[in-house]
Amino acid sequence: MSEVLTTTMLPNIIGGERVESSSTRTLPVLEPNTGVLIGDVPLSSAAELDEAVAVATKAQLEWAKVPMKDRVQVLYNMKTLVEAEKDHLAEIVTRENGKTHAESMGSVMRAVECLEFGVSLPQIATGDIMEVSRGVECRTVRRPVGVTAVITPFNFPFMVPLWMIPMALGMGNSVILKPSEQTPLSALEIGRLLKESGLPDGVFSVVNGDREIVEAMCDHPGISAIGFVGSTRVAKIVYGRGSANGKRVRAMGGAKNHLTVVPDADPEMTATNVVASVTGCAGQRCMAASVLLAVGDVDHILTLIKQKMEALVIGRDMGAIISEAAYERITGYLERTEAGGAVLELDGREASLEEAHPGGHYLGASIIDHASPEHEASCEEIFGPTLTIIRCDTLEDALAIENANPYGNAAAIYTSNGGTAQYFSERASAGMVGVNIGVPVPREPFAFGGWNDSAFGGGDVTGPTAIDFWSKAKKITTKWSDQHRSNWMS
Ligand code: NAD
Repeated sequence: MSEVLTTTMLPNIIGGERVESSSTRTLPVLEPNTGVLIGDVPLSSAAELDEAVAVATKAQLEWAKVPMKDRVQVLYNMKTLVEAEKDHLAEIVTRENGKTHAESMGSVMRAVECLEFGVSLPQIATGDIMEVSRGVECRTVRRPVGVTAVITPFNFPFMVPLWMIPMALGMGNSVILKPSEQTPLSALEIGRLLKESGLPDGVFSVVNGDREIVEAMCDHPGISAIGFVGSTRVAKIVYGRGSANGKRVRAMGGAKNHLTVVPDADPEMTATNVVASVTGCAGQRCMAASVLLAVGDVDHILTLIKQKMEALVIGRDMGAIISEAAYERITGYLERTEAGGAVLELDGREASLEEAHPGGHYLGASIIDHASPEHEASCEEIFGPTLTIIRCDTLEDALAIENANPYGNAAAIYTSNGGTAQYFSERASAGMVGVNIGVPVPREPFAFGGWNDSAFGGGDVTGPTAIDFWSKAKKITTKWSDQHRSNWMS
């Protein structure tokens, strides 16, 4: 079990050790639930990244020689440790991110699933072999890409790094993790757990920092691949800059997820599910419902949704907003609702708080109704517990609005008609579609990944395509027997 952090300066991890950053630039890290200072995160310099890359380069050469079956034993050990320490890890997530304990626990257990998938790599990353001509055999083998960087957002500080790290390590790469500067604690736990699981020193590093270190990662000649998860604005920057420098980059971006509700939807199930999708993790999920497309007369369902949102006790049923800046951004949309021609049907600023900590950033669920498709609350990622409702006459109108939005993470429909569900599923322009499910996160071995402006670089972040991303396929063509010689190949 890790020690409780009492010093204010948080460390980096290089060469398997916690090391103090030499940077003089720092940022305070505050508990979203209380506003209490956790520590200061160092904004590491490019020189510190150079050191981490040098260590990771040396370590990766040895790690790549370890057979895959042995490499995944580390992931197996880590899964066992995470399960044993799940309460402690969930507490860390709640402390730095502000989620409820149940939500943090859910994110820790989802990370366990990703570790389990990594453990299965020897069964699924096997390569192909075929006789392609007489006496000539072609086979593919997978080789690591080298030193890789993983850059992550604040909203799932334990789970999102573990979407990528098991696959990257299992395929024989070294990983340098740059966590969000708002939530740097889980990254240190991941480093500790990997070390205790038997990962050789230097194969995994943590370099804390902000934009400067991300740009240095995009430019660093010693880094071969970047896995990024964050907002679309930054995903585009990282994808563009990293790719221009010849790296493979897969950058997952933001979202604006639309839920379509048609009149034959089951009212109770729909309302419960929509509310969970909007308010889970206080709306700070890339899979959170953001816009409800109300087709025809579904007022009885909208009334239920509002009642359920009003009944939520903030601090008990819903966690905190990550920061004051985020609170200001979200409430800005509420303030500007009516100027944009919509109705603020439910104002989360008036919600009841169970545990009102003076420094915590709490906000209840809000509903912005009768919004036009052009209203800012219909178009921009608010990333808070706010539902924008657009009224539509037909399912075609709803699909047109859904598909005109530039993002494409998730889309969902609520209906009791299988034909309607199938029609919608085939036409919605999103990487993950839900039928009567507002957070349609595919579970392993199905992959997590959006479309359009929600993902850049091809492939998904988890699941089988991650094998391709974190490895290079070598095609070996072999002929040993001269007796088959009849043309240039055989
Ligand atoms: P963010 O884009 O602000 O930060 C992500 C990472 O990029 C952080 O490590 C941060 O330090 C770094 N960064 C920030 N600004 C930068 C800049 N100008 N140049 C280079 N690097 C920079 O995202 P966030 O606010 O931490 O997280 C929320 C966002 O992440 C939301 O948009 C959410 O939808 C998205 N998200 C997407 C997925 C997905 O799978 N598509 C999953 C989780 C979160």
